[in-house]
Amino acid sequence: MGDLRVEVLGHASVRFGIGGKTIYADPYSEVHDFTGDPKADLILITHNHYDHYDEKAFSEIETPETTFIVSENVGRVDGRYMVLANDACCTWAGIGVWAVESYNVNRRNPDGNLFHPRGVGNGYVLDFDGFKVYLAGDTEPIPAMQDLPKIDLAFLPKNLPYTMTDEEFIKAANLIKPKALYAYHYFEIDVPKLKKDLDPAIELMN
Ligand code: ZN
Ligand code: ZN
Repeated sequence: MGDLRVEVLGHASVRFGIGGKTIYADPYSEVHDFTGDPKADLILITHNHYDHYDEKAFSEIETPETTFIVSENVGRVDGRYMVLANDACCTWAGIGVWAVESYNVNRRNPDGNLFHPRGVGNGYVLDFDGFKVYLAGDTEPIPAMQDLPKIDLAFLPKNLPYTMTDEEFIKAANLIKPKALYAYHYFEIDVPKLKKDLDPAIELMN
């Protein structure tokens, strides 16, 4: 497949380039100016919150040929919206795309509802010819993380009140044990503090 280029654009926005294809995950125009950026062959959306599903970002990067792979709560009836429920998978341009669970266990909004109820949003495992990338989405540490395949590169969220504390981030990372790891979706980050408690086999890329 050739080299995989990975660009971290801010918040939960990531861009991958491989074999002439450009893939965006959760492009968000508040943290990155997409004007003039490479057009998207594929856009992956984890869930329908405004910081993940952003029409303004889409308008800069989509073309009539862009494929969207989205969670069930994003899915509208449109040929370009391929909806994957939790645990569903597909292959796009030779790349395996597996939707995995992504949800809150404890954290709720003032109404008492979980910010991210189970079964609604997707994390994704992307399989680039055996090189596996995990985009966790907005989640807390969850049992499904134990069942992930060997991950080469993981993106785990870290911020309150929506996702994980630093301690939960480290717990999840040490459980998944990716070769390389990015914290994403954070408001602040203390890299030396995170590195202190991370399994030394994991390379923190931030
Ligand atoms: Zn969210
Ligand atoms: Zn979010």
